[in-house]
Amino acid sequence: MSNRMLVSPYSFCWNASCSAYGQPDLGNIRKFGRTPGGVQRYQCRLCHRTFVETIGTVFYGRRRSQETIIECLALLAERNSLAAIHRVKGVKEETVMAWLRTAAAHVERIEALLLANYKLTRAQLDAMWVYVGNKGEKGAMPKPMSAAPSGAA
Ligand SMILES: [Zn+2]
Repeated sequence: MSNRMLVSPYSFCWNASCSAYGQPDLGNIRKFGRTPGGVQRYQCRLCHRTFVETIGTVFYGRRRSQETIIECLALLAERNSLAAIHRVKGVKEETVMAWLRTAAAHVERIEALLLANYKLTRAQLDAMWVYVGNKGEKGAMPKPMSAAPSGAA
């Protein structure tokens, strides 16, 4: 895994209950007007869920790019240890854990990003959340698909 740009947030569906969830370039996403604030809105032709182009922006104001953060989470899902990630990416263990706790507050979106960019399996994603469940704050692990993502429009 080398540094690279993440796939466009409007190239795949962000709805976890959609058959096209996290699968880029299926041709199921179309432009769907703009928000009152002028942000481009998109719609999945399959599930009809709409979302805005900023939906993928989960990590604001971090020193590391979102690409790096998502890559570290993908490495964790692929069963790399925190020590290994520190060695390979130069990111401290507590930093990765802090990202993982932030990710846990946006399960549907983070999984969409990981699926779209790293072709992870359901089991790998689950393993990653178990990790934050074990090592993170007690009760910090939300149920996937509990509420509508705040980025939905
Ligand atoms: Zn969809």
